[in-house]
Amino acid sequence: MLPTKIAIRNVSPWDGVSPQRTDRPHTILIEKGRIQALVPMSEEGSLASDARVFHLDESGPGASTVLPGLIDAHVHITLDPSVFSPDQQLALTREKVWAGMQQRALAMVQAGITTARDLGAGEWMELALRDRIAAGELPGPRLLCVGQPVTTPAGHCHFWGGEARGADAVRSVIERQVGHGVDWIKVMATGGVFTKGTDVKKPQYDEAELRQIVGIASDHDRFVAAHCHGIAGIENAFAAGIRTVEHCSFAGGDGFGSDFDADFVPNMVRDDVWVSPTVNAGWGRRVEKDGKPTPFWERMTTCLRAMREHGVQFVASTDAGIPGVQHHQLPEALAVFAKYAELSPVDALRTATSEAAAALGIADETGALRPGLAADLVVVEGDPTKDLAALLRPKLVLARGRVVYEADWDRASR
Ligand SMILES: [Zn+2]
Repeated sequence: MLPTKIAIRNVSPWDGVSPQRTDRPHTILIEKGRIQALVPMSEEGSLASDARVFHLDESGPGASTVLPGLIDAHVHITLDPSVFSPDQQLALTREKVWAGMQQRALAMVQAGITTARDLGAGEWMELALRDRIAAGELPGPRLLCVGQPVTTPAGHCHFWGGEARGADAVRSVIERQVGHGVDWIKVMATGGVFTKGTDVKKPQYDEAELRQIVGIASDHDRFVAAHCHGIAGIENAFAAGIRTVEHCSFAGGDGFGSDFDADFVPNMVRDDVWVSPTVNAGWGRRVEKDGKPTPFWERMTTCLRAMREHGVQFVASTDAGIPGVQHHQLPEALAVFAKYAELSPVDALRTATSEAAAALGIADETGALRPGLAADLVVVEGDPTKDLAALLRPKLVLARGRVVYEADWDRASR
């Protein structure tokens, strides 16, 4: 049963938007899964006698921060990151996949990730998980799902079943996803790293074809996310009305970032398009080698800094599920992203809260601390608006008003 009333006392709020947190101790009141009020603790009045109260008091007033639950804009919840090839993934039994999905959903939400957008799989199992979580039957983040990505015959992730070339074929793939109840549409605009026989540098669809996909998706009230590595695919995506440009890695002959075109960056500054750069925690180990900056670091920090300097909109994303990228590591990845793009901690946090919610079209539901929004929130020790490492010290996580993680802070303080 969902406790109808919860009060969290003695926390300093960061609302998901403001330039800094409010250092005064506050009380946040939650009722029926929604944020009811956020008031200075001195003005809270008498709390409802039936409210479950969390008093964050062990480290002095204002030592804990409450912030909106985090959003990872690019994951694959069906994929086991310890399995290193698509063939092996596809060979897993449905039972095994389902069990793994539940574990990953739990780990994500306990790490403070209360929303995630799943950007592709083959059998709509992630939609079933989405619905079980939404019904309160399983713990996990709110999921937005795309189902099978639209891709060319034998194109990137063709094994998921979304192959289509030509308007009729594309329409039928999109309508099949809509029939299964997807929230978004995904298209593979270039080749990908993990599909043999595809080329990350080459576009799979031209601008007119992408525009057609956006049009069909829009007829069904769905936004489109486009997987894009090479510059030609990135340019097509920006021209065609894609809402989120995934990866955006400017991959060329020498890998990610090697075809970066600084002259194109001003064209990427749009108020209705977001770049979702899928920077995972592992990028933190690719900054230097033998005490020297790596070519990977130099290329990717150049791209990401140029985008940030021009004001390109970002959403935080990890591509969790691909080999070695675990689903609950957005808190670590956010600090790595901030380093590559030279984002302030607050700007990095916005890409995983209010900005992400705006990009995903769910800003009236989550992404900020505001009365009326879902009670998706994380309490952490310290101030993440000054140091993102505080995200690694969660004390309490609520997802849609449900307590999904509670550190042993109360006992530890005695
Ligand atoms: Zn992906």
